[in-house]
Amino acid sequence: MGEPVLGVDVGGTNIRAALVDRETGAVRAVEGRALEGRSPAEVVAAASRAIAAVAGRHGGAPFRRIGVGIAGQVLGKSGVVLNAPNLGWRDVPFGAMLGRELGVPVRVVNDLSAAAWGESRFGAARGVSDVLVVFVGTGVGSGIVVGGRLHEGARGVAGELGHVKVRPPRPGEPARPCGCGSSGCLEAYAGGANLAARVRSEVAAGAPTQILDLVGGDVSRITTAHVEEACAAGDGYARRLWDEVGELLATAVANAVTLLNPERLVLGGGVLRGSPTLREIVESRLPAAASPTAAAELTIAAAARGDEAGVVGAALLGSEGEA
Ligand SMILES: [Zn+2]
Repeated sequence: MGEPVLGVDVGGTNIRAALVDRETGAVRAVEGRALEGRSPAEVVAAASRAIAAVAGRHGGAPFRRIGVGIAGQVLGKSGVVLNAPNLGWRDVPFGAMLGRELGVPVRVVNDLSAAAWGESRFGAARGVSDVLVVFVGTGVGSGIVVGGRLHEGARGVAGELGHVKVRPPRPGEPARPCGCGSSGCLEAYAGGANLAARVRSEVAAGAPTQILDLVGGDVSRITTAHVEEACAAGDGYARRLWDEVGELLATAVANAVTLLNPERLVLGGGVLRGSPTLREIVESRLPAAASPTAAAELTIAAAARGDEAGVVGAALLGSEGEA
């Protein structure tokens, strides 16, 4: 067994800390809890409690470094969270705050970059040095591994595939607004939260679909799982929606493949995991949408570490530079 390293995953509603085996990527102990408050001080306190709980199971031995993945944009290696819409944060020096509380250096990274690193090192792209990991869940995000290293970009915010533009606004045809403050982003069309909101409003406005029956007439209960269920049962509205979303996803991912020429593409996230029909549409359209030379030897795999990937990647990234 390798040396255990400590990672934390801060989502919009939950926090988890885990002890991860540095040599195998196995999770040895994990502590997850709901976030009671979302202010930076409250999240620091919740992270400290979760870390103390897992460290206690390691005999209370101190950790030299800690890695944190957070649902937000992080400025380089500064630990400053530039923008975390789900937490309502802007320009929060979270790494310094948590480091002061714990007395050790803390590295903070974007949660999807952490998850991509977890999948790359000890998941669906183990042993592969050029990887693109795309997650389609509540939002859309990606992580890029080039030559065996996580590609972070000049400001540390590379991999924002959810915010590449897929629908430029035209007169009389406004693009859908995105949570980032812009509009026409991939996430505005393919992110689970935005998709569910769109279907609710279209069904409420009388779209001809069996989705309303699947939720007992309660529009507020509609999720992307109901679109998948209806599509599998031959519902025309659901099929047209999946065709539209699948084409946008396939095109955006294929463009990234053309640009980056990865050896492996890893597809994950709750929406793709729960919607095999959508995933099939994306995978079937991808090869034709990418440059044939870039896609010639591309292999596509499903994410293998599920919700664990983020905390595993955060722990590994946090421990880097320790040796
Ligand atoms: Zn956006």
